[in-house]
Amino acid sequence: MSDDPYNVPGIDNTDIDHIIKAEGYGGKVRAMAIKTTATCAEAAKIHKTSSVVTAALGRFMTGSLLISSDMKNETDTQTTIIKADGPIGGMTCVCDFGYKVRAYPVNADVETTYHRPGKIDVGSAVGEGMLTIIRDIGLKEPYVGSVELLSGEIAEDFAYYLARSEQTKSVVALGVAIKDGEVTNAGGLMVQLLPSADDDIIDRLEARASGFPDITYLMEEGFTPAKIIDLFLGDPELQYLSAEPVSFFCPCSMEKMSRGLITLGKTELEDLAKTPEGIDTECHFCGSKYHFTKEDIEGLLQTL
Ligand SMILES: [Zn+2]
Repeated sequence: MSDDPYNVPGIDNTDIDHIIKAEGYGGKVRAMAIKTTATCAEAAKIHKTSSVVTAALGRFMTGSLLISSDMKNETDTQTTIIKADGPIGGMTCVCDFGYKVRAYPVNADVETTYHRPGKIDVGSAVGEGMLTIIRDIGLKEPYVGSVELLSGEIAEDFAYYLARSEQTKSVVALGVAIKDGEVTNAGGLMVQLLPSADDDIIDRLEARASGFPDITYLMEEGFTPAKIIDLFLGDPELQYLSAEPVSFFCPCSMEKMSRGLITLGKTELEDLAKTPEGIDTECHFCGSKYHFTKEDIEGLLQTL
């Protein structure tokens, strides 16, 4: 450790998006804090989202990344899905190992309404529905957990998921600050109490959670993820475990799109092969476009 108590090995520049993992109270409490400003801005740019969708999708990606933070293998992947009846129509987010995230909303352009000036009403835009998390960590079957949305405001929906589906008592805070349609700050905090945590620690952290400032307010005040964890836990023996960069990344390719087309089946492909000018496909997650010529499609048909 250098002179800066918040200097966690692994990240030289705390301005970039990154996630910090820590533990406190003798290992009875786990904490993760994340900065996702550039990641959320990238998603907003790709999907041309209105402010309320920028906030919803940003919170959703940030929460998904926090939940994915216990992945151990390079092939591990996690898909989070919200299916709900609000005007956004749902969202899908995939986190790959190494905090590489991609996501899309069903509807990107939804009118923004406010709880009060400056406080975007995300819950109404998301609506009522379900949060499902599919974690593929190399076991025979992926682990699938699902809960009803509590409010659609995302952070408490994730906390409820963790309590119900994974029996982990957690505090989840997520925030995306937007000014003139642009993301100025985004990030989150997740604190988990391990079963060994005694009532004393639980009481202390619950009291801390109730009066804790908004994550984006702290970020605007210059708090890094490491400092936010320290402020929340207030444990002099706090141990930082790791720091890793976070980024928006889509692994789509012509080859993956081809495999997608093949799953349409022979009849559908034969129909597509009749189009002389070929077809254009677009990746839901990143908007990349792939053109398939008539000959390409005929080539795919040969593989069936
Ligand atoms: Zn893509």
